[in-house]
Amino acid sequence: MTHQMKVPFFRPSVGDAEIDAVAECMRSGWLTTGPNAAEFEKRFSAMLGEGTHAVAVNSATAALHLGLEAMGVGPGSEVIVPTLTFTATAEVVRYLGATPVFVDMDPETLCLDLQDTEAAVTPKTKAIMPVHFAGRPANLTRLREIADRHGILILDDAAHALPASHKGKPIGDCLADVTAFSFYANKTMTTGEGGMLVTRNDQIASRSRTMRLHGMDRDVFNRFTDTKASWVYDVVAPGYKYNLTDVAAAMGLVQHARLDEFLEKRTRLAAEYDSALSDLPITLPPHAAPEDTHSWHLYIIRLADDAPVDRDTFITRLQEAGIGCSVHYRPLHQMSVWKPYCSGKSFPAADDYFNRCVSIPLFMDMNAPEQERVIEVLHSILGGQS
Ligand SMILES: *Cc1c(COP(=O)(O)O)cnc(C)c1O
Repeated sequence: MTHQMKVPFFRPSVGDAEIDAVAECMRSGWLTTGPNAAEFEKRFSAMLGEGTHAVAVNSATAALHLGLEAMGVGPGSEVIVPTLTFTATAEVVRYLGATPVFVDMDPETLCLDLQDTEAAVTPKTKAIMPVHFAGRPANLTRLREIADRHGILILDDAAHALPASHKGKPIGDCLADVTAFSFYANKTMTTGEGGMLVTRNDQIASRSRTMRLHGMDRDVFNRFTDTKASWVYDVVAPGYKYNLTDVAAAMGLVQHARLDEFLEKRTRLAAEYDSALSDLPITLPPHAAPEDTHSWHLYIIRLADDAPVDRDTFITRLQEAGIGCSVHYRPLHQMSVWKPYCSGKSFPAADDYFNRCVSIPLFMDMNAPEQERVIEVLHSILGGQS
């Protein structure tokens, strides 16, 4: 039977506790941003560190947009973005009329290349957006040195990195000016769609809170719980509609309480792959630096030169065997919309990476027979011993 078992690339881990919490919210009569969102923000910032502000929003893309807006990025600004990321990292720069400046990846870390990053700084550079790729923290110590040397800010795209840490400090309260987390369906915790902006900067937090809800100086929950009349508010800027619903936050509270359990399972699955796949003609994913921790959002293998099949054939074989997989990502400099921003530049590390990379299944509820099946299929395609 096991040879017929299908293994999906991902399955969210949603149980009765999430379902009950959502049902309770729906019965409560308060659906939009309210007590659950406030409690979710409170617990999120408490987890990261006292004094952090957490601003709940409806996606990481929204958090990235709000972060850049609050940093004063606008027309004429440049923002440094790795080419190896999801398009959201770059698109928010364009929302504000600024220019994304793409840099190559470091094949050792899958994060942005530090030399290329510093070389890309110009007098117009306002911010660097590191992505903690697959959940492996970027070298924020070195990035902070580069940023401080040039007087620029760091906006962490931490969509893969919950929870993760650099030199003992959690991503979200570690050397970046602003951090954005994602609760999209296939991230390390989910609210269906959702995100969180985190910062220690009071002005950025306050501006983000205002801009996430139409530029109003009081949010909807305050308006209905304050003693002041609900219609008394001012609009101070043309804001956005980025607030998180209380239905989503109800789910977020349950998932957030499970983060340690999620991390432990992911770390165990990654270690199992590491030992079971070590004899194959592939490069295993990089581990976190010695004092860092990895969230293991993704487990990405890279086919070696002596692999018996190329990357696309490998994916076809996986699909034929019923194993889900994915590619993270086609680098942005290869995408039509971003090519014009890359003329005259080359990205040899990301091009090479893209020709070899495959993300294999790793998710909280993956069971031992499922992982054994993935390992068995990889051996049968790549010719190691099974
Ligand atoms: C998922 C993801 C995003 C976008 O997250 P949303 O919550 O879907 O907006 C941004 N950057 C990276 C690297 C991602 O993986």
